[in-house]
Parts: sequence; C-alpha cells; structure tokens
Amino acid sequence: MPGFELFGDEERKEVNDVLESGILMRYGFDGLRNGHFKAKEFEQKFAEVMGVKHTQLTSSGTSALTVALASAGIGSGDEVILPTFTFVASFEAVLALGAVPILADVDDTLGLNAQAVEKQITDKTKAIMPVHMCGSIVDLTPLKGLANKYNILLIEDACQAIGGTYNGQKVGSIGDAGCFSFDFVKTITCGEGGALITNNKDIAENADKYQDHGHDHVGNDRGAETHPFLGYNYRISELHAAVGLGQLKKFDQILEKQRINYSILAEELKDIDGVTFTNTPKNAIPNYSFFNFFLPSEEKAREVISKLKNESLEACFYWYANNWHYYKQWNHLTQQKSLGKLSKEVVKQLQDFNNEDFSLSDKWLSRNISTLIKVSWTEEEMKTRAEKIASVIKATL
Ligand SMILES: *Cc1c(COP(=O)(O)O)cnc(C)c1O
Repeated sequence: MPGFELFGDEERKEVNDVLESGILMRYGFDGLRNGHFKAKEFEQKFAEVMGVKHTQLTSSGTSALTVALASAGIGSGDEVILPTFTFVASFEAVLALGAVPILADVDDTLGLNAQAVEKQITDKTKAIMPVHMCGSIVDLTPLKGLANKYNILLIEDACQAIGGTYNGQKVGSIGDAGCFSFDFVKTITCGEGGALITNNKDIAENADKYQDHGHDHVGNDRGAETHPFLGYNYRISELHAAVGLGQLKKFDQILEKQRINYSILAEELKDIDGVTFTNTPKNAIPNYSFFNFFLPSEEKAREVISKLKNESLEACFYWYANNWHYYKQWNHLTQQKSLGKLSKEVVKQLQDFNNEDFSLSDKWLSRNISTLIKVSWTEEEMKTRAEKIASVIKATL
C-alpha cells in the first residue's frame, strides 16, 4: 500500500517549486508564489481522478472525516454508525464534534453489515460511516438503501481503499461524501494530509470554509474576509500538498503493481482447503493494498499468524488482537478515558459495551489474517513470499 516506497524526482520537483517561492501556505501571497497553488492543483486533479465535482484537502484523514461530518451539519449528540473494525480515527472524528460514535457489526466483507446497522438506527442517527478496510470494499447498496429509507447521510471512510471501485465508481464518490488519508503509510502520501470528496455543493462550500477558520475565501485580502460560521484550522500546507501532487502522478502505477502482487498471492492460496477469501461484493474491485483471508477457526488463525512472525514474514496482521483497529481493544473508548469531561450527550448515548453483541464481527475477525501488499516487491520476491505463506498455512491446517 505505501506510496513512500516510490519516492523520487516527481515529489522533489513539486516540493522544490514551493521552497523556491518560500510560500508554504495555500492561501494568499499571490504576488510572491510564482503562480504555484499546489493544494488547489491537487484538489482539481484529484476530483478528476475520483470522478467527482469537489475535493477539499485537509491536514489529515482524521480531519477530513471531521470536516466532512461538520460540513454535513453533524454536531453535538448526533449519532454516527460506524464499524467495530476500523482505525480509531473513525470514532475520533465523530467525538471531535461532540457527536456520538455507535458501533455496528462487520461481516465477511470486512465492512459494515446492513442488517446490523439497521438495528442501531435511532431517531438521533444522522449518518452511517462505512469504512473500506484493508483495500476491501463495503457492500454499499444496502447501506445506501438504509440511508434513503431513514433519510440519513452516508459518509465513506475510504482511507485504506483509495482507487477501489463499486459498480464502476470510485469508492469515496458514492456516499454524500468520502474521505481519504495521505498519511505516511497510505497508498499515496503527503507525509501528512487528507481529502474529502463530494458531489454535494453545500458540503463542498461548507468544507472550504470550515477547514480554514470559517474564512469565506472571497476577494484577495484574507484579513477582510468574513466568517459566516465557526470553523477550525484543518488546512493542509503547500509543502504537503506538493508531495501529494508528485505521488498522484504514480497513482495508476501503484494500483497496477498492487494488483499484480495481490494476484500472485491469491493464486498461491486459492486451492488450499480451509482458506477462504474475503467476500468482495458483486461489481466491486478492491484496491489490492492488502490481501485478506480467513482460516477455519480462531485457533488456526492465531497459530498461522505466530508462525508467519517466526518466519520473519513482515507486514502480516491479525487485527482481532490489534490495539488500534478492533473494538475489543478500544478500552479508552469503551471506558470513556478522556483527559477532560466528555459532553453529556456522548456519556449518555455511548453504547454499553458489556451488553452489546458483536458476535458477527468476532466470528469473522477472529479468523482473519491480512497481509500488506508492497509495491517494491518484485514478482519473484512476491512469489517466494506467497509460497512461504502457503507452506505455513498448509503445515497448520
Ligand atoms: C489512516 C486512516 C484514517 C486517518 O488518517 P490520518 O491521516 O492518519 O489521520 C482514518 N480511517 C482509516 C480507516 C485509516 O486507515
């Protein structure tokens, strides 16, 4: 998945453009910036690549999620349904607004299960936030059906599946808004950065202002601009945007290399009795940043992952036991360990995790192993790696 493996002249050129002018900020200083607007240029190109009308860059994927939710009008006490399997950033973005993250089960797609989501819908629910984890694609049609039925928003967290598609559309472009991360380990990176995309003009206009202290961006005197509503600073810098612009030039190449390496591993594992692959929804294409598979039991999965580690096979993950990606280890959330007081609504409405039943998530995640697909591995290296993984599995089953 990591674009940082392919750093080179493209990124250097873009960054140097910015350093030569010395204008590291995306707004203002028009006379001094040698015509360079890297953030703006990135936004235009990214909207084209994603097939949407608007892109708003931000300082991180987490802030992209916060800005998307805020721009869609979500605030204090509003409930946002998200999966038990995701990165902690998903619920952090919700909590940042005083809104309440409500967890729902994932299934063999590794994404939100629509029936589980429907059970969590209340009159306070304002949005569903599916997360396309590990390059795999959430089945969006039933979730969209729920969003329409209950008149709530669909905000995609596509941070780990950039370039994947669903019914021929890029993930992130299907919901009311979609969010991406360009942190250091993502498919393309800015060092730190994020983006939200949308076809909704109101969300786009709100986001433009909200991520820059509420600035209306009218005219060319920042000090004279007005502030129609409260905002924060979630801006990206020109330097970070410049890195991303360089990376964007390699995006297709990265996806293609991931696809090739993924296929090599899939070919090696497909005929092993007891190994099943993640369920990819009909008409969906993953972004191939990880290869995800299931073993017949939790016991076997734990055995395989520990053997893979002993064999020094890097970048193999058992998310079920991971501190950052699965609800079972999110004790800071479930026990409400916050530095200051959480808002009354959050305290009152958070689920009682001792009494929630997430056995569907447990069933799938306890048996799941994910392996990162690197773009720097040659086909030969990938083949050797695939054979090693296969032999570890065969020896265990
Ligand atoms: C990386 C990631 C984020 C947050 O991105 P940052 O840029 O690190 O803030 C959000 N959601 C998911 C699923 C991620 O993997």
